[in-house]
Amino acid sequence: MSECLFCKIVKGEIKANKVFENDSVCAFEDINPQAKVHLLFINKQHTCNVNEMNEAEIGQVFKAIAEFTTSNNLSKSGFRVVTNTGPDACQSVFHAHFHVLGGEQLAGFGS
Ligand code: 5GP
Ligand code: ZN
Repeated sequence: MSECLFCKIVKGEIKANKVFENDSVCAFEDINPQAKVHLLFINKQHTCNVNEMNEAEIGQVFKAIAEFTTSNNLSKSGFRVVTNTGPDACQSVFHAHFHVLGGEQLAGFGS
């Protein structure tokens, strides 16, 4: 998808602070962080949202999240993974992405 913002980040046509990359996945800092650590994990292959991803792609992205959070000391204190899908969830970029939030105490859903 030549027009897609996150495809352009994958190709290096738009700058982002990349923190992780392998053959199928990359991760970069969100431009408008909602927590001390706010990263976006994406498959390099374009899909519009999680429901378009196949099992292999979902596995690749969660494996990358596990690898990154384990080796960067996030998994011990904890982190949150969010994927907004469609208008009710306010999805604004239509390249499937997984927000990884952490680095501080996050609010609970009931608070
Ligand atoms: P959504 O609202 O679709 O779940 O999340 C899209 C995310 O992409 C937002 O958190 C927004 O801050 C982030 N974002 C939008 N444009 C850019 C950009 O050009 N660079 C980076 N690094 N993040 C972006
Ligand atoms: Zn894309």
